[in-house]
Amino acid sequence: MVKERATIMIEVVNQNKTYKLGIVGSPLAHSRSPQMQMAGLAYLGLDGDYKKFEIQESSFDGNFTTLLSEIDGLNITIPYKEKVFKYINHMDPLAEQIGAVNTIVIEDGKTTGYNTDYYGFLKSIEHLDLKGKKVATLGAGGAAKAVLLALEHAGVTEIDIFVRSMKKAYEKLPHGDGVRFNIRLLDEIDNDDHSLDGVSMLINCTPIGQGRLKREIPIKIDHLNELEPGATVYDLVYSDTVFLQRARDLGFNTIDGTEMLILQGVKSLSLWTGKEIDEDLIQAMRVGFGK
Ligand code: NAP
Repeated sequence: MVKERATIMIEVVNQNKTYKLGIVGSPLAHSRSPQMQMAGLAYLGLDGDYKKFEIQESSFDGNFTTLLSEIDGLNITIPYKEKVFKYINHMDPLAEQIGAVNTIVIEDGKTTGYNTDYYGFLKSIEHLDLKGKKVATLGAGGAAKAVLLALEHAGVTEIDIFVRSMKKAYEKLPHGDGVRFNIRLLDEIDNDDHSLDGVSMLINCTPIGQGRLKREIPIKIDHLNELEPGATVYDLVYSDTVFLQRARDLGFNTIDGTEMLILQGVKSLSLWTGKEIDEDLIQAMRVGFGK
């Protein structure tokens, strides 16, 4: 009985709180996270604001320290997902393993770092059965590290990671126990007609298809025919890229990065507010995002 009353008290206190939230990165002009997060707060009936904080690298430390003293929660995006490590008092084990933080919760002046890209990607593939399957990624940067761990947890047993620099990839990648990682050069795909044999899902984790590379594709499209029949082509870029359009023309299932982006945002909001994730919250944030 006493416990029940305490729960109600906490709920009332949180309902009265005005959440001060935002995103830190550079550039942020095109970010639709504010619209998405404001839609999430409105759905939850919570008061708050979510702002863009575009900070230049040269003035990062001073500005970020000030911001942390004024805010309840932050998303962290390019190029600061590793740089913020030194500001974290407690690191969530998944973020630690991935080596990148995209969400910070600030409570009583203490910061906790999380990686919700992991959650966003894992949830976006939950309808696929990847147990025992082989997957390939193009690129091995910050986002790929979250993707690789999520794939391991989805039961994938072998991952070919195609990179343009072998040394850089070896230094960066987490090394899982339940999965075999093969690091290979990206050029191999265009020079060999069998390099994607046996692959059930191919994931573009490079920025090819976005910004000034909008019209580019990461590999010669005919090589998609080496994938398993019924394979999925996934692009982390947040739009229906030329790569995905061409993959669909060849009969493949495709997924673009918007669902992962929305789901990582839903998880961040849940961490900041303590609210459970449900399908209606996800749908409200999809609508806020403009999907
Ligand atoms: P990142 O850390 O800079 O890594 C990019 C990776 O792509 C690196 O392996 C890089 O190789 C490689 N790469 C870059 N340009 C290339 C090129 N022209 N040819 C071949 N490889 C190239 O970036 P990130 O944070 O991982 O982001 C990657 C993409 O995922 C971006 O488009 C980003 O917007 C998107 N993303 C989406 C979500 C989502 O929620 N949907 C979340 C995070 C990121 P080097 O190491 O050799 O430079």
